[in-house]
Amino acid sequence: MPKLPALVLGLATPLALGTASAPPASGPAYTLSMPDPASHRFAVTLDMTAASGDVTLVMPVWTPGYYQRMNYAEKVRDLAATDQAGHPLAVRQEGNRWHIAAPRGAKLRIRYQVLADRDFVAANFLDANKGYVSPAGVFAYPEGRLRQPVTLRIAPQAGWTIATGLAPLGKAANAYRAADFDILYDSPILMGKLERLPSFQVRGVPHHFAGVEFGTIDRALLVSDTRKIVTAASAILGDIPYRDYTFLAIGPTPGGIEHLNSTAVGLSGQDNRTPGGRLRLNSFLAHEYFHHYNVKRIRPRELGPFDYERENRTRLLWVSEGFTVYYEGVVMRRAGLIDREAFLDDLSGNMRAYENGPGHRFQSVSQASYETWEDGPFGRKDGKTISYYEKGPVIGFMLDLAIRHATGNQRSLDDVMRALYRDYYQRAGRGFTDAEFRATCERIAGTSLADLFRYVDTTDDPDYARYFGYAGLDVDTTPDAKGERRFTLTPKRDPDALQQRILASF
Ligand SMILES: [Zn+2]
Repeated sequence: MPKLPALVLGLATPLALGTASAPPASGPAYTLSMPDPASHRFAVTLDMTAASGDVTLVMPVWTPGYYQRMNYAEKVRDLAATDQAGHPLAVRQEGNRWHIAAPRGAKLRIRYQVLADRDFVAANFLDANKGYVSPAGVFAYPEGRLRQPVTLRIAPQAGWTIATGLAPLGKAANAYRAADFDILYDSPILMGKLERLPSFQVRGVPHHFAGVEFGTIDRALLVSDTRKIVTAASAILGDIPYRDYTFLAIGPTPGGIEHLNSTAVGLSGQDNRTPGGRLRLNSFLAHEYFHHYNVKRIRPRELGPFDYERENRTRLLWVSEGFTVYYEGVVMRRAGLIDREAFLDDLSGNMRAYENGPGHRFQSVSQASYETWEDGPFGRKDGKTISYYEKGPVIGFMLDLAIRHATGNQRSLDDVMRALYRDYYQRAGRGFTDAEFRATCERIAGTSLADLFRYVDTTDDPDYARYFGYAGLDVDTTPDAKGERRFTLTPKRDPDALQQRILASF
């Protein structure tokens, strides 16, 4: 077994919860324990100073990466507060908020339980086999203190270890720190008798893969494919912005959520022992991994810092999600994990799904982004909505081709991603507006892209022949046996030199 850093190699030692472990007065200090996993209940203790008297504790209503209301407060049980002498303080609940009457300067201890009974990547789960924490649904924050540093100590079940992207708190076992609540909430925690796959380095940065219930997955192949994915994805941006990264395999539950230096992925029947299974698993991992750039750092202005009490709406999920789907294929192609035919087939599949669905007459892709909070992650079932996971990557490919065509294949969508990363994430330290995104694309292309952006805000039929023609590709829109238009992409017989160069780039 390779040597693992303390960060992921948590040791299951019981914690002293008394005054000996009292937190520094600087920020809220949480303790998480699980004395009875079969009850599906986490026990949370929050120690903090009520610097200016009364405190309001707020439980988020959503977690970043999953754009749906979660109502985590419904899972909170038996919240009670005491002062430093152990005297109970009055608590009044109002929805997802708890108002605690406290004298100015009092040292508070707040205890509550969280019912963790939903095995889902955006929820919390605890049983005899594993514990999974979506921190936004467990650690209620004191109002007005989202920007303060936070500490967390965990008392796992005996024999369990912990995997998380959180930074260790000194040398203490199972103790972590976060610079603020955005970081805490961005760091899911997996506990159990974890299986740890061999870590690997890319650009000198360690990457870990830990989880439960890997099933029959070929571990060696999983690690070697993941390493290729990380290598190809990080080569696009030319920078790895974290000090370590952890893939958390949380068991057989659908979906995954991206984070700054980790991702939680449900391995729901996934297996890499068949070519199709390996392709699906690698697409999934490439998607979640590329997100640490696209959406976590290259991000719309609305997506961070977050408001945890209401929907954070953006019209740009066709970029944040859609382009991440597009880059699944780009990354796997460059990693040598798929051939060009498979890359184009995947895009055809998205085009086919979008074009043959009735919703494409009703909803634009920017509208689908904005309305996802009502429509659900993949749109509604009434035929009036679309999925930005399908139209987004198609727009991404068309944009990539438009830039390549306009610049003689000297520039590409990669340059847009690098410019957004440098100008907004690294230099300005903020997200971009819709107008800034489009201006960056046009600056890289050196020309107006209004013809293309029209397809973002309207339901107009995209001129596929024009854009795919830039790569010397024909689009076959004839119906198949089921009457669905095919949208297969095939190389033209007589491409010109630029078309050949562009197609050869994929
Ligand atoms: Zn995604």
